[in-house]
Amino acid sequence: MKTEVVVIGGGATGAGVLRDLALRGIEAILLERDELTSGTSGRNHGLLHSGARYAVNDPDSARECLAENQILKKIASPCIEDTGGFFLSLPQDPPNYPEELLRACKGLGLPAEETPVAEVLQKEPALSPKIKRAIRVPDGSIDPFRLIRANVEEAERLGAKFFPHREVIAILTDGRLIHGVLAKDSRNEEIFQISCRDLGR
Ligand SMILES: Cc1cc2nc3c(=O)[nH]c(=O)nc-3n(C[C@H](O)[C@H](O)[C@H](O)COP(=O)(O)OP(=O)(O)OC[C@H]3O[C@@H](n4cnc5c(N)ncnc54)[C@H](O)[C@@H]3O)c2cc1C
Repeated sequence: MKTEVVVIGGGATGAGVLRDLALRGIEAILLERDELTSGTSGRNHGLLHSGARYAVNDPDSARECLAENQILKKIASPCIEDTGGFFLSLPQDPPNYPEELLRACKGLGLPAEETPVAEVLQKEPALSPKIKRAIRVPDGSIDPFRLIRANVEEAERLGAKFFPHREVIAILTDGRLIHGVLAKDSRNEEIFQISCRDLGR
């Protein structure tokens, strides 16, 4: 087989990269040694971060996270439940963190607002009644299985190819540039080669 780009791994990264390449008209093949989402992407908490958790200590990551959150809510809404999220302060937490968080979020244009604790406990009765303060942020819940499947299906519709149960076992180089991979079909041990465009060209 021959293609421009070989993408290794059918998790969130590989599926997103495959779709991005397909949208740009770049020929690509995705190889996954198991099934889609069989790695970390199928074992996470499904939290669609708003960036609030990074707002105080890592504003650049927070900005990127917020932009991604907003894009995903627009282009992948069937995979997202717009639950919102809370940052909660307990008696043992640093007392000035809520102020710091609110200030940092405001500086980033990240909508965060203080919510009365009684209201939060009414919505989420299993939370600790010891909560001191609560800040609502635009976190959400994301279904990684649906999102990754949708990315791959859209990429395939645009001409990309996806092969599950194919493990990349070697990267082929001429000593300097990568020009292909060797992969193994885990169901029958068959080994095949895919040539791709040299990175230098
Ligand atoms: C406990 C936990 C909770 C998390 N919770 C969240 C959360 O709530 N929200 C959030 O946004 N992020 C969360 N994350 C982070 C998020 O899950 C990861 O950033 C994301 O899944 C990484 O995706 P990936 O595609 O890079 O890796 P993976 O999903 O691991 O995909 C890599 C794939 O590559 C395949 N592979 C590996 N080697 C080969 C090979 N040689 N040939 C072919 N295929 C191969 C694997 O089988 C795998 O499917 C969490 C992470 C952890 C560990």
